[in-house]
Amino acid sequence: MFSTEIFIFVDNRFIFSTMFVDIHTHNSFTTDVPAVRNLTFQEAEILFSSNEKGLFSVGIHPWHADLFSATLFAKLKHWTKSKRLVAIGECGLDKHCNIPLDVQQYAFEQQIALSEQTEKPLIIHCVGCFNELFEIKKKINPRQLWIIHGFRAKPQLAMQALKAGCALSFGEHFNEESVRLTPLEKLYVETDESQTPISEIYRHIAQIKSTDPDFLIAGEHFFSAVSTL
Ligand SMILES: [Zn+2]
Repeated sequence: MFSTEIFIFVDNRFIFSTMFVDIHTHNSFTTDVPAVRNLTFQEAEILFSSNEKGLFSVGIHPWHADLFSATLFAKLKHWTKSKRLVAIGECGLDKHCNIPLDVQQYAFEQQIALSEQTEKPLIIHCVGCFNELFEIKKKINPRQLWIIHGFRAKPQLAMQALKAGCALSFGEHFNEESVRLTPLEKLYVETDESQTPISEIYRHIAQIKSTDPDFLIAGEHFFSAVSTL
């Protein structure tokens, strides 16, 4: 499956030395790395009625939470039956958009329930609503993995998020101290909308962690888990 894979033996285990997993991207061009491509509802309509291979995420973004409807949610629910849909999202909360927070929260909680029912992790978009996010997590106590994507916040928030049991995904721009304090098993890497190659972002993050990119293994574990579904 991986044409460029090289196994190396480190720490009593074999790892892929070239396995840079992009946990969240909007880029539709095919890359030679495993990636979870985020689809719009329009893209998902086409994709899930095709045979196109890949790993995908779809969700109702907080910016569009006002579009939440039984019909839309039923579509999302239907797509979760596909093994190609490996995560629900982006979903979450955003204080800086003009959708009322209670509307966002309703859409988010519906998607959390779906994530729990279908055992698919969440890719979370959270801007300025971390207290609300942690409260919801505490209230619901979900079993599924919550990955806060595009994490740029300060170390104090990173610590709170990790304490709440969330994983963090870092892209092209991030707070170095937040990266430093995130344990490797909770640290994901993404390109999101950036054109910067995922390998470069891996290398940058590895440098901050004073480690080798091969030790950034959270995405690798995620990918192995979903590819054996
Ligand atoms: Zn995104």
